[in-house]
Amino acid sequence: MGIKENLSVVKKQIEDAARACGRNPAEIRLIAVSKTKPASMVMEAYESGMRDFGENRVQELVEKYDEVPKDVRWHLIGHLQKNKVKYLLEKTELIHSLDSIDLAKEIQKRASAAGKVQNVLIQVNVTGEESKFGVPKERLTDFCEAVSQFENICVKGLMTISVRDYTEAQNRAVFEELHRLFDEVKAKELKNFSMQELSMGMTHDFPAAVAAGATMIRIGTAIFGERQYPAVE
Ligand SMILES: *Cc1c(COP(=O)(O)O)cnc(C)c1O
Repeated sequence: MGIKENLSVVKKQIEDAARACGRNPAEIRLIAVSKTKPASMVMEAYESGMRDFGENRVQELVEKYDEVPKDVRWHLIGHLQKNKVKYLLEKTELIHSLDSIDLAKEIQKRASAAGKVQNVLIQVNVTGEESKFGVPKERLTDFCEAVSQFENICVKGLMTISVRDYTEAQNRAVFEELHRLFDEVKAKELKNFSMQELSMGMTHDFPAAVAAGATMIRIGTAIFGERQYPAVE
C-alpha cells in the first residue's frame, strides 16, 4: 500500500477509536512522523492533505524544511540538545520534548532574541525507565513552576512515550496517568502556560492514547512503512 492509502487507514482507525469513546475525531491532530524517510515521501503525504510532520533529529528537520512547502508545520518530537536550539526555532511549530531547565533557558534566550514566543510541550517520563528522556512525574510540579518564569516560552501541554512491549491495558494506564498530570498542571493556572495538548500514542499504541484523551498522535510506521535503520530516539 502507498502512503495515501496508509493515511486513510490510520485516519479511519483514529476516527473509530474516537467514536468508540464518545470523542470528536476533529479534536485529534495526526502528526506524520517522517524520520529517516526522504522529503519525497513527506511530499506524498502532503499531497494527500497532511500538514503536520514530526522529526526527532534537528538536522533532519532542518534539511527537509528546505525541501517542502512552507505551510508544513514541523514538530520536533525527539530529545533536543541545547546546542541545536539555534538551528530550530524559526522552523518548528512545536517542540514536544522540553525536559530540562537548561534547555528551557536556551530556548528562552534564542526565542527572546528572535522576538518570538516558542510553543513547547513538556515531555514526562511516566513509566520511570532510566533509559528514557522526560521529566520524572514526581518532579513535574517543581519543573513546571520553574518553566513558568520564561516569558518567551509558552507551554501548551504534555507529551509522553509508552513502553514498546506494554499491553493495551498498560499503555492505557500510562496515558491516563499523563492525562491526570495534565489536569493537575492545568489547574495551577501557571504564567506562560496554556494547557491544551496531550501528545501521546504511536503506531502500536494510539487507540489507547485516543481513549485516554490524546489531542496529538505521532505516527510513523503505519504511514510511511518500517524504517530501514534505527532512528535515534
Ligand atoms: C519515531 C517516533 C514516533 C513514531 O513511531 P512509530 O512507531 O513509527 O509510529 C512517535 N514519537 C516519537 C517520539 C518517535 O521518536
